[in-house]
Amino acid sequence: MKKDTITIDDLMDKVDSYIKDPKEREKILDAYYYAKEKHAGQYRKSGEEYIIHPLNVTLILTSIYADSVCLMAGLLHDVIEDCDVDIDEFKEKFGLTVYKIVDGVTKLGRLHFSTDNEYLVEYYKKIIVGMSEDVRVIIVKLADRLHNMRTLWATPVEKQKKKSKEVLEIFAPLAHHLGIHKIKSELEDLSLRYLKPTVFYDIADKLNKTKAERDTTVYEMQEEVTELLNEHHIPHQIKGRAKSIYSIYNKLDKGKKFSDIYDLLALRVLVDTEQDCYLALGLIHSKFRPLPKRFKDYIAMPKPNMYQSLHTTVFGIDGYLFEIQIRTYEMDEVAENGIASHWAYKENGGSNKTANLQSLTTQKLQFFKEIMELENDKMSSEDFVSSVKDEVLNNNIYVFTPKGDVFELPKGSTPLDFAYKVHSKVGETTVGAFVNGNIVPLDYELKSNDIVKINTNKSAHPSKEWLNIVKTTGARNKIKSYFSKNEKEVLVERGKEFLEKELRKRKIPLNDFYSDEKIKEVYKTLKIDNLDDLYYDIGSGKHTPNNVININYEKKEEEKPKLLKNIVKINDSASDIIVDGIDKIKVSIASCCKPVHGDDIVGYITRGNGITIHRSTCRNLASMDDRCIKVSWDDKPTNKYYSDLIIRTDTLDNKLVDITSTVSKDNVSITSIKTVNRDEYATYEMEVVVRDLEHLNKLILDLNNLPYITSVERLIS
Ligand code: MN
Repeated sequence: MKKDTITIDDLMDKVDSYIKDPKEREKILDAYYYAKEKHAGQYRKSGEEYIIHPLNVTLILTSIYADSVCLMAGLLHDVIEDCDVDIDEFKEKFGLTVYKIVDGVTKLGRLHFSTDNEYLVEYYKKIIVGMSEDVRVIIVKLADRLHNMRTLWATPVEKQKKKSKEVLEIFAPLAHHLGIHKIKSELEDLSLRYLKPTVFYDIADKLNKTKAERDTTVYEMQEEVTELLNEHHIPHQIKGRAKSIYSIYNKLDKGKKFSDIYDLLALRVLVDTEQDCYLALGLIHSKFRPLPKRFKDYIAMPKPNMYQSLHTTVFGIDGYLFEIQIRTYEMDEVAENGIASHWAYKENGGSNKTANLQSLTTQKLQFFKEIMELENDKMSSEDFVSSVKDEVLNNNIYVFTPKGDVFELPKGSTPLDFAYKVHSKVGETTVGAFVNGNIVPLDYELKSNDIVKINTNKSAHPSKEWLNIVKTTGARNKIKSYFSKNEKEVLVERGKEFLEKELRKRKIPLNDFYSDEKIKEVYKTLKIDNLDDLYYDIGSGKHTPNNVININYEKKEEEKPKLLKNIVKINDSASDIIVDGIDKIKVSIASCCKPVHGDDIVGYITRGNGITIHRSTCRNLASMDDRCIKVSWDDKPTNKYYSDLIIRTDTLDNKLVDITSTVSKDNVSITSIKTVNRDEYATYEMEVVVRDLEHLNKLILDLNNLPYITSVERLIS
């Protein structure tokens, strides 16, 4: 294996090519001499002098045009860890910013935990914290890791595999999200080489064998495209483009055959302006037939890591498929160096560089914002790590807002995850979703390139059902915290109300009950220390008001806690419903008005529970008209329907037996019947099961014919 022997002169040549300020140059040299002195006498496992490592790391950093602070940190990144260094002197010499970056990188290397899991949890947290302070911590770490991977051959196989796995799990995705393609791609190839050497060399071999043929074809295609663009006076450059071994491996792994991988033949066309990109695309398409559905416009809709380019696949010369990327030089810079490209383009020195890069990163990179938000959400370390790993860094789909903003979500995400990602207020007030113009249920699984529109309603709020729907930890936590906050508030309020009602009933003055001495006794007995907890315990039914009052006052007979009214009962027998223009959506019968087959009905788009069917006369609909949609009954009912009837009589005599026998004569079954009022006359509430409206109307008619019955009404609660 070759050794990466380089000297400070090699590095400075590179530095001089873009850092022009002599003072900054001087500081970089200072950092080098300091590091060289501190590392004197140390050697790497590969046998080289230690200083070769920081030199190489810094050389990698110059390839993405890192600023002088970053380069100094690169040279010094191992001195705090490995050498005897006076921290104050270090800060004095190189400044606090350089110190913080080096310290951040050092902390990443210093973790020792017993289990892999603990280790990973801490590792991620350190990375995130480091990054949130200064993104350059991660950029230096990426360069450090890249050089270590290049020289990994000198370490034992076990360690090679462990490091490679870590790279694929953490560092390559980080590089990808920072848009630093150059580093990401090399990291992946190196990891594959250590993890699956056979596969790696097999692919490399196949590429080699077909290389000559491919090179000729690519060259010929390149000539044709150049001629075409020259004819139309579009200044450009064309690069043949090597696919990374890892990206080929990934496609093979997904079941594709080597010969089927389209983009083995690839070209990249670089032009001056965005307009030229589209012109070039049009010309290429007019000459070479494009493969349907392979065209992607990442210029109009950049990827969340800022990547911009046009992608198309065409039938090129000799029938070969070519994947062609068309972009401007500036877009190409961003594609290769990501966030780091802002060093090359926008900056010309000055002390506010740090702030710039950091705020740019936060502004421009969605994943960065998300990680910062996750950090603010109070969640367990394990949840935090799995969200970062599974949801932010890996396995993602891209979906669009109707305006074309791109959001990145983990696979399996639903419109609700999307809504919460846009903003928690949007999430909380979601009432429905459209994907690519069609209404979808809230548990619809989003796919890449879906255009998602969320309907909201200011007065709407989350449903507990959503917890079973959402995929992202972020959305789940926001829903949970909404409920824990809201439920607690409601129960505290209810508890206070119950308690004070009972106090009034027992004619105990509030100020006496709440007097210092008495309330202290209550706290002591119940082992609590504030009123909210007291109310909460009462509201949630842990103690009855009298339990509490009895602590200081003479006992009254114990009451049972009141049962809360059973609020919702969903009847799912709704397969007889046709929803206009949609099939396969969850439909259920509203429990407030219980329509039966044949009733005039209206569909209502719920939060997270498909569509519920109401009678058009249901008063609960009045306030929800913007969420109503047209529905109708299928001709032949296949289900049975529940209906609630209120039966009023002019007698106090018990007529239950008589009523039930009339009902059963009509072949209607009763699921419940109870007396709801016995003041002057008895009133009954009865739930029956019928086939349809005709069946129900016949029953109502027969009941009305009973002499003592004054009215029969269908209930709308
Ligand atoms: Mn290092």
